[in-house]
Amino acid sequence: MILLPLVFAAAAAQAPAISAERIREDVRVLASDEFGGRGPGEEGDRRTVEYLSKSFAAAGLEPAGVDGLWTQPVSLVRLDRRPGATLSLAISGRTMHLTPGENATLALRNVGRTEVTEAPLVFGGYGVVDPARAWDAYEGVDLRGRVVVLLANDPDFEAGRDLGFEGRRMVLAGRIGSKFEAAAKAGALGVLVIHEDAAASYPFLQVGSGDAVPAFVLAPLKPSSLQLSGWLRLDVARDLLAGAGLELESLKRRSRAASFRAFTIRDATLSASGELAATEVLSHNVLAKITGASRPDEYVLYGAHWDANGRNGPDAKGDAIRNGAVDNATGTAEVLEIARAFAKGPRPARTLVFAAWTAEEKGLLGAERYAANPIHPLAKTAAVINLDPHVVLPAAHDIELIGGGRTDLELRLAEVAARLGLRVTPEANPEAGWYFRSDHFPFAKRGVPAIAFRAGRDLVDGGTAAGSAIVEPYNARDYHQTSDEFDPRWTFAGTVQEATVAYELGRALANDGSWPGWNPGVEYAALRLASEAERSATPRPR
Ligand SMILES: [Zn+2]
Repeated sequence: MILLPLVFAAAAAQAPAISAERIREDVRVLASDEFGGRGPGEEGDRRTVEYLSKSFAAAGLEPAGVDGLWTQPVSLVRLDRRPGATLSLAISGRTMHLTPGENATLALRNVGRTEVTEAPLVFGGYGVVDPARAWDAYEGVDLRGRVVVLLANDPDFEAGRDLGFEGRRMVLAGRIGSKFEAAAKAGALGVLVIHEDAAASYPFLQVGSGDAVPAFVLAPLKPSSLQLSGWLRLDVARDLLAGAGLELESLKRRSRAASFRAFTIRDATLSASGELAATEVLSHNVLAKITGASRPDEYVLYGAHWDANGRNGPDAKGDAIRNGAVDNATGTAEVLEIARAFAKGPRPARTLVFAAWTAEEKGLLGAERYAANPIHPLAKTAAVINLDPHVVLPAAHDIELIGGGRTDLELRLAEVAARLGLRVTPEANPEAGWYFRSDHFPFAKRGVPAIAFRAGRDLVDGGTAAGSAIVEPYNARDYHQTSDEFDPRWTFAGTVQEATVAYELGRALANDGSWPGWNPGVEYAALRLASEAERSATPRPR
């Protein structure tokens, strides 16, 4: 086993070097306080876009945005809840006054004043409406004027067996956004999700501190029939349920059946008030390219989100800047460094596009904007490689695949990794639904084969225990917080591994003319097939 890092070093040495030092410098700059946490529409936005454009230009790339520019405009609406919002629950005559950010969160959905008085509460189980799986928690239930209380994740995440929702791994219907959509369609006025660490995949600290962060949507803002949504801290939820003679564990068991139907929680209501202000914000994706030597109208796209969570009021230590050093200055720095490596080497057959997306943290908005209005046709984009690793680790023996089992790109990844002396391991927390949570997803759902991975936890020095000892505290304490800051002790050795694997994978795809595809039965396969004729007759690999 001691030989593996040497093998890695030898294989990597044949490629133009991915430099830990240049990645370090880009991460240091992007995560510095001067960049203000890179919040879209904040002062750090302009600085970041300028820094990235200049860095791509300095590397010798061509602009790949609109009108020959380095950028693609992304029109957003910023939604700020004004101070003074109230939220309370009443159960069997007892009122529980909640404090948004502390024991619940409150997102208002419509601009101006929202006033909800004693809306009845309905328990909706997992809130899954999925005709393909013959599940509909709301069938025959009138949700108009009501607020539905839901469990997080999907029905079989804790079932110990597969109920049609991929077992422990989360399916899209388990994402909170899918639940909001389903409840809105069923006529609900509001949604509250019961927070549990494992089901939500992050501690309440994360959602609680997110309460202060403004929401963004792609412009134009559409009015919503759903007036509010939020999380309930677990103790509050248990208290509420107990007041109605209900108990969480038995509700979960009942909710794990296709026959489950939402039911009214007796003598339980929600009241809320608050005001939402909307501001139009113009942000930008940054796009650069290296035009292909022999297949210039075919593309391999690298992407990483440049945004983090900006300035959102001071924490207990007086720090107001959520620097986003790990998430995602590292991925952004990797895309820059991969671009430099390609610019120094021989021009590949296909065109390489390098994208730094805005507003990922607000719901994948920059990548969604591009995928809905592609500058380079999606039908001829062979693959999307997304870098949003969420870890900064020393050298590892493995690369962690996010959301595996979907595309034959994973076979290519395994080959490339093996050549570099790395093995591919499955993601540690499939219940977190990471495949739906970063910028490859807007492409995948439109049929473009897309892959995401990060350095594995099996560290050369200390194995998996050492890796987990770095990753787990980050996820629990630092993710999206003011403490996600640049650490001068980072070696970036794992980051170099990520970038080297990404470089080699993209290089193979850019030169061999193959069209990766989706595995049989994967829901995105049919969409890709629909654009088959637009691609050349080049055979697919294998
Ligand atoms: Zn991220």
